[in-house]
Amino acid sequence: MATETKAAFGPALRGARQESGLTLRDMAARCGTNFTHLSRLERDDQRVPSRGLLDRILAAISDPGAAARVAAAAGRLTPGVEAQLSSLPRAVSEPILSRRTLPALRRMEAGAAADALLERLGGRVVTGNRVDPEVLCRAQGLRPVIRSGTPGPAASFEDDGVVTIRDPGEPGDAGGLPRVRFLLAHTAAHAFRGENVCTFPFVGPEEIPALDMAASLLCPLPLLRRAVAAVLLDLDEDARNPWSSLSANMVPAVAHRLAVPGWVALRRLADESLLDDEAIYYTLGDQP
Ligand SMILES: [Zn+2]
Repeated sequence: MATETKAAFGPALRGARQESGLTLRDMAARCGTNFTHLSRLERDDQRVPSRGLLDRILAAISDPGAAARVAAAAGRLTPGVEAQLSSLPRAVSEPILSRRTLPALRRMEAGAAADALLERLGGRVVTGNRVDPEVLCRAQGLRPVIRSGTPGPAASFEDDGVVTIRDPGEPGDAGGLPRVRFLLAHTAAHAFRGENVCTFPFVGPEEIPALDMAASLLCPLPLLRRAVAAVLLDLDEDARNPWSSLSANMVPAVAHRLAVPGWVALRRLADESLLDDEAIYYTLGDQP
């Protein structure tokens, strides 16, 4: 969360030690340090221990959540999480895996940017069950004007904040609302990133971050979860079974509820692991 500030290490350590039922002397003995040093660390808001001592402190704290809080207060990850992340560079450089891992990492970054913008706007960005993309645009100082049935790049930015959004479809056609909403969110994402050029539907590398971010802006995780819960109530129980022919029905139903294009719903459901991975590959006809 953008507003969250890191807790001081000393108080975090004291809290975790007390939750573990350890006295200062117990803890010092377990960590192989002296009582006075540990006591000073607990009372000091600025200092953090050496890496070696921190690892021994974390090992002495029985509750994993408390250990993670202490590690975070020291600006570190717990050793277990660090060990898991250390395999990431290999995943990224591995050609066989990169087809999956690189887009996933790129989307995580776009998702974090989207979350930051949505959090800044708070409740006023959601109307009913949907993100309001006009609010996203206005928050970026944009005044969108929509032209239907016009070819050309999706958005043209003027100096005064007016932005022309070209919807290639006809006014009122079935895909119109999700399409226009997506183009609005995409335009807001460009502006958020400090970009004032859009070439979509021509998709060069410079378009991809704003496309990714738009998908996350329109389907933030809480709304996506709520949509899945509502849709599963409406669909047959069997839809939850990835081997069922009904499992793919969840995607258009979620897309409809959030008023987003189908591919956006499918991608966001997959990114958030709300659809079974294997089911998606079979749905797309992709190789698992
Ligand atoms: Zn664009």
